[in-house]
Amino acid sequence: MPLLDHSSGSPSVHAPADTPLERTLREQQTLLDNAGAGIAFIRQQQVVRCNRRYAEIFGYASPEALVGQHSESFYPDASDFRELGRAAYPVVSTGQTFRVERILRRCDGTVFWGRLSGSLINPKDTAEGSIWIVDDIDAQKNAQVRLDAAIWEKQILLDNAMVGIVYLRDRRLTRCNRHFEQMLGYEPGELEGCASRQWMPSDQAWEDVGQRCYEPISRGLTFEGELTLSRKDGSPVLCEVRCKAIDPSDLGLGTIWICMDITERRRAQSELIKVHAELETLVAQRTQELSETVDSLHREIDDRKLDQERIYWLAHYDALTGLPNRTLLAERSSHAIEQARQDQTPISVIFLDLDHFKHVNDSLGHRVGDALLVQIARRLRAVVREKDTVCRLGGDEFILLLPGANAKGAARVAGKLLEASRQPYQIDHHELTMAPSMGIAVYPDDGANFETLSQSADVAMYRAKQGGRNTYRFFTPEMQAHSVRALQLENALRRALERGQFSLHYQPQVCIATQQVMGVEALLRWKHPELGTVSPAEFIPIAEDCGQILPIGEWVLRTALEQLKRWHDQGLILPSMSVNLSAVQFRQPRLPELIARILAGAGLPPGALELELTEGVAMDDPRMAIDTMDQLHALGVQLSIDDFGTGYSSLSQLKRFPIGKLKIDQSFVRDLDEDANDRAIVSAIIRMAQALGMQTIAEGVETRGQFEFLRDQGCNQAQGYYCGHPQAAEQLQIYLQACRKAQQGGNAPGQRGTQTSHPFTAFLR
Ligand code: C2E
Ligand code: MG
Ligand code: MG
Repeated sequence: MPLLDHSSGSPSVHAPADTPLERTLREQQTLLDNAGAGIAFIRQQQVVRCNRRYAEIFGYASPEALVGQHSESFYPDASDFRELGRAAYPVVSTGQTFRVERILRRCDGTVFWGRLSGSLINPKDTAEGSIWIVDDIDAQKNAQVRLDAAIWEKQILLDNAMVGIVYLRDRRLTRCNRHFEQMLGYEPGELEGCASRQWMPSDQAWEDVGQRCYEPISRGLTFEGELTLSRKDGSPVLCEVRCKAIDPSDLGLGTIWICMDITERRRAQSELIKVHAELETLVAQRTQELSETVDSLHREIDDRKLDQERIYWLAHYDALTGLPNRTLLAERSSHAIEQARQDQTPISVIFLDLDHFKHVNDSLGHRVGDALLVQIARRLRAVVREKDTVCRLGGDEFILLLPGANAKGAARVAGKLLEASRQPYQIDHHELTMAPSMGIAVYPDDGANFETLSQSADVAMYRAKQGGRNTYRFFTPEMQAHSVRALQLENALRRALERGQFSLHYQPQVCIATQQVMGVEALLRWKHPELGTVSPAEFIPIAEDCGQILPIGEWVLRTALEQLKRWHDQGLILPSMSVNLSAVQFRQPRLPELIARILAGAGLPPGALELELTEGVAMDDPRMAIDTMDQLHALGVQLSIDDFGTGYSSLSQLKRFPIGKLKIDQSFVRDLDEDANDRAIVSAIIRMAQALGMQTIAEGVETRGQFEFLRDQGCNQAQGYYCGHPQAAEQLQIYLQACRKAQQGGNAPGQRGTQTSHPFTAFLR
C-alpha cells in the first residue's frame, strides 16, 4: 500500500494524463517504497499509512496489514508509549523533529532497538497527524553494546591487572594502568606522555631495550625479557617484561608492554633455592649420617661378635701367652677329675713359679719380662702332651694339669721342665736363664677337687723355693702347716717395722793376722709377740717375696750406720760396718743415691760401709749388676760377696766385679777340720781371691782349728762364734772396749790366740 495514496488505484507510470502533481506524488511514492527506513503516517495514534520497510521492521506481511494499528503496539508496553509521547510532544509541537533511540516491539512481541524520528505534519494542528521514520538499529546497537562491554572489560582488566600495562607510541606513554604507576611509585596520570626513558635506569639501558625488542616485535613476535626498571625515587625494580607491536607492519601504531614486578618472586626464588640447597645439604648430611650409622651399626655388630669371641677368649685364656687361664683350667680340671673318678686313674697338678722373675721385670722392664714369659710358655707347652693343660695363673705362676699322670709321671715332666729351663732365653740382646720352682700334687691323695689340688701343689712349690729353688717338691701333709706359717709371717712382717719389732745384732769380723776387730756385720733380728724370735734365714726370703725387704733393708742400713757413728763418736776404733743387701734391694732403682743419702744422714764416709752381696745379684743381668756395683764402688762403698762358693759366679764374671772381699760360705768352713774336700775348696778360693787382688773372710768360724787353717791358707779375716757371737749393740760395745784394752796392754790377741786360748773366746767366756 502506497504511503501517500490519495486515489484508490495505483498510479500508472505510463499514464499520459499525468499532471505534475501526480508525477511528484508518484515519484515520492517510489521513493517511500524504496526507502531504507520505515516510514509511517500516524493520525489519532493509528497508522494511516506506512511503507514496506516499516511493515518489515515491525514484522508485518505488508504495509496494508498495519493500517489502523494503534501506535502503542509498537512499544513494549503502554507506559513506554506514554513516556515517548510525553517526550516527543514538546519537541514536535514546535515544528522540530523529535529523535530518539528506543526499544520497540515487533508484531510477534519480540523487541529491538529502533531509531525514531517524528514530526508533525502541521505543528499548528496536531490532528493532521505525524510522520514517523524508524530505523532498525538493533544489530548496530547490539554491536555497540558488545563493543562497550569489551571496552569496559578491557578497562576492568587494565585497572585490575596485577601487572603493569603500558601503551607506547614513539616510545612515549600513551596509556598505562594504575598498577604500572603504583609499581613505579607514580600518581595516577603522572606518566602520561612521558618517554619510556623515565623508568629506565640509564640512557644505555634504555637504548639496549629498544634494540633488543625491535627485532622480535617487528616480526610480530613477543619480546620477553627481564629488565631492571627505575622507580620514581630511583630505586630499582626487577621486572619480567613482555612487549608486542600493536601492528607489526606499522610500528608507528605503538607497542603494548606488560611488566611484572618479579623482585619478590626472585627473592622468593633465591630463598627457595637457598632453602632447597640447605635442604639438599641437610638431606645429604642426613643420608651421610644414616649411612655412617648403618656402617657403624654393621661395625658394631661385627665388633660385638668379635668382642664376644674376644670376651670368651679373654675369659678363658691368658692374653699375654695365649695359654688357658685359671677359669679354663678349672673347667678342664673338673672334667678331668670326673673322668679320673670314673676310670680310677690319677691326675697330677704341677704348680710352677719362676725363680727371681720379678728381678727381670724390675731391672729390664716389663717388655722384656713379657717377652720372656711368652717364650717360657712356649717351652712349657712343648714339654707336655697334647691332652695336658698348661695354664698361666698370672705373673710368673703356671699350673700344669696332667690327666692320667701319677707321681712318677709328674716327676718325669718336672725333670723335663727343669732340663728345658737350663737353655738360656734370648730376649733382644739379653741372654736370660730362668729356673722354675715346682710343686706337685697328685689326685686323689693330695686333693679331691681342683681347688685343693692346686693349693697343695702351691704349698709344695713354696717348699721347693725354700729348698733352694730350681727344683721340685711333692706335696706332703706336713707342708701344709709350713705354708700356713709362711702366710702368718708375711702378714706379721707387714707391721713389724712400724711396731718396732726389729733390732740389730752385730758380729765382729776379725783380722786373722793381727786379731784386731776390723768391722762388724749387722744381722737383723725379729722378735714377734706371738711368733717369738724368727730367724732371718726364714723371714728374709718371705720379705723378699712380698717386697717388705725394701723398707726393712733401708731401716737396717740406717740403724747400723747410725750405730757405727755413735761408736766412732765414743772413740771406738771400728773401720767398717757390713750390711747384708738382698738381691731385691740391690736391684731397686737408684740404690747408690739411697746409700749415699743414708751415709750422709749418718755423717759417715762411704768407706765405712761394706755391702754384702750374694752371687745371685748378678745372675739375671750381669751387665746391670756390674753397672750398679761400679756406681757403689765409685761412691767409695766397699763390696763383698757373701756366702761365696754356693752360687754360680764364674771366674770371668768375678773379674769384672769391683769387689774387694769374698766371704767364704760357712758350709765350707764348718767341716774344715774333717773334710779334705772343703779344705781344698777353701784354699782354692783364697788363692783365687789373692790372684784377683781380693780379700777373703771366712764365716762360721767356730773352732781354733778352723781359724788356724784359714790363717795358714792366707785368709785375711774370720767371722764366727770363735771370734764373737752376734750381739746387741751394748754388749758389742763392751766387747770392743775389752779388745781395745787388751791391745793397749800390749797383750796382742794374735800372739795369745796362736798359743793357748783365743782372746775372743776368752772374752766370751
Ligand atoms: P749371713 O749374712 O751369711 O750371716 C751369717 C749368718 O751366720 C748369721 O745368721 C749368723 O748369726 C750366723 N753365724 C755367725 N757365726 C756363726 C757360727 O760360728 N756358726 C754358725 N752356725 N752360724 C754363725 P743369721 O743372723 O741367722 O742370719 C742368717 C742370714 O740372714 C744371713 O746370713 C743373711 O743372709 C740374712 N740376714 C741377716 N740379717 C740380714 C739383713 O739385715 N739383711 C739381709 N738382707 N739379710 C740378712
Ligand atoms: Mg752376711
Ligand atoms: Mg753368709
